Amino acid sequence: MILTYILTLILGACVGSFLNVLIYRTPNNLSIVKPASHCPNCKTNLRWCDNIPVFSWLFLGGKCRYCKTPISPRYIMVELLNTILWLLSVLLFWKISPLVSIMFALACSVLIVITFIDFEHKWIPDRFQIALLVLGIVLTIFDPITSYLDHILGFVVGAGVLGMFYGLGWLIYKKEALGIGDIKLMAVCGLILGWKCTLVALFVGAIVGAISCLIIRAVKKEEDVEYAFAPYLALGTIFAMFFGNQIISLYFSMF
Ligand SMILES: [Zn+2]
Repeated sequence: MILTYILTLILGACVGSFLNVLIYRTPNNLSIVKPASHCPNCKTNLRWCDNIPVFSWLFLGGKCRYCKTPISPRYIMVELLNTILWLLSVLLFWKISPLVSIMFALACSVLIVITFIDFEHKWIPDRFQIALLVLGIVLTIFDPITSYLDHILGFVVGAGVLGMFYGLGWLIYKKEALGIGDIKLMAVCGLILGWKCTLVALFVGAIVGAISCLIIRAVKKEEDVEYAFAPYLALGTIFAMFFGNQIISLYFSMF
C-alpha cells in the first residue's frame, strides 16, 4: 500500500505539471505538445531539471533560471493541489474500489483545469466538460458504491437546479445570471456524483460562492463585476466526491 501512495504522489505531481500546460495553452488555442516547455518571457527551452514538478519551482525560487522573470505561483499551486487531491482519492477510495478512486482523481484534475481557466477567461472550453462526461459514464456503468439510477438522477438534478436559476435570472434581471457552460458543467458533475452528493455539491458551492461574491464586491466596490461560477461548482463537486456520503449519513442520523 505504501508503494501505491508513493506512486500516487509522483504521478499526481507530474499530471499536475501537465495541467499547467493545459491551463496556459488551451484557452489561447495553442498546441499542447509543441513547442516544448519554455519560459514565456525569454523563450529559452527548459531543461529536464527545470521541469521537475514542485521542486524546480522551489529550487529556482519561483524565477526563470535564465532571465530571472518571476514564474506565477499558480504553477506550484496546481501541482500541489493535484497531488493532494490524488492522494486523498487513493486514501479514501482505493480499498473500496480502485476504479472509483482513479475516476475521482481524474475528475479532480479536470476540475482544477476548469477552475483556473474560468477564473482567468470566464469561459470553459467544451472539451473539459466532455472529459467529465466520459468519467461520469464510466462511473454510471461500473460504480459499485452508487447505483446507476443515482448517477443519472444526478445529471438531471445538476442540470435542473442550475437551469432553474438560469431561467429565474432571465425572468427577474433580464440577463444571464450564469452561463450555459455552468449548467453543462453541473450536469456532468451530477452524473459523476449521483443525486444526493450533487445536492451537497450545490449547497457547498452556493455558500462558498456567495461569501466570495460579497468579499469581491467589498474589495472592488464595483456593481457590475463578472463572476465566475465554475470554480465554486468545482469546489463543491470535489468536496462532495470525498465527503458527500459522510455528510448525508450525518444529516440523516440527526432525525
Ligand atoms: Zn526566462
